[in-house]
Amino acid sequence: MKTAVILGAGGLGCPAALALREEARARGLPLRLVIVDPDRVDRSNLSRQILFADADVGQPKAEVAARKLGAAARVDRFEAATAAQLLRGADVLLDGTDDFATRFLANDEALARGVPLVHGAVLGWTGQLLAVVPGLTGCLRCLFEGPPPAGAVPACSEAGVLSPLCGVVGATMALAAAQLLDEKKIIFSTDPRPGVLYRWDALRGIERPLAVKRDPDCAACARVAS
Ligand SMILES: [Zn+2]
Repeated sequence: MKTAVILGAGGLGCPAALALREEARARGLPLRLVIVDPDRVDRSNLSRQILFADADVGQPKAEVAARKLGAAARVDRFEAATAAQLLRGADVLLDGTDDFATRFLANDEALARGVPLVHGAVLGWTGQLLAVVPGLTGCLRCLFEGPPPAGAVPACSEAGVLSPLCGVVGATMALAAAQLLDEKKIIFSTDPRPGVLYRWDALRGIERPLAVKRDPDCAACARVAS
């Protein structure tokens, strides 16, 4: 039995969780899905957070999503203090959170524990995905070093999020995670490959894969247990 932990039952976490459950079934891969989210369903979420309906408004997102998918729920915030407990037993971490501090924390905590990470993000018309194998591929911090300065990049609440793009990126996150969990696969020969940054521009229809070089000075990669 493999365990996948999904951070955020939002625009990315909902389609990622659904697609990962189905992909694992298709591969005959026994999977325990853990969904982590501290928030409650809001009416404004319903256009893109596909696991929720009107009747779920006001309920904890993690519990509703877990109930619909036969998963486990953790109504909790991913922080330095909760990371060890939330990542216990994880074979892969899918990060669909929407703030920079949590994304880098997820990167750092996953690497420090040797847990493969699938990072996804959507903002406006653009989306991105990076799967990381600790000790083998570049990570989020090899690429960006750290979060952008406050105010340099608009938040999802300011720039908006293209709902269908959440489905595309979330489902691709699930595929990347399934490949990482499925030891029978030669993961480096199949897209989405770990260590490659995939970007979507839903307005122009351009996808630009970018190989992420390992930074020898990366603080997160330096914490990978050898
Ligand atoms: Zn790194």
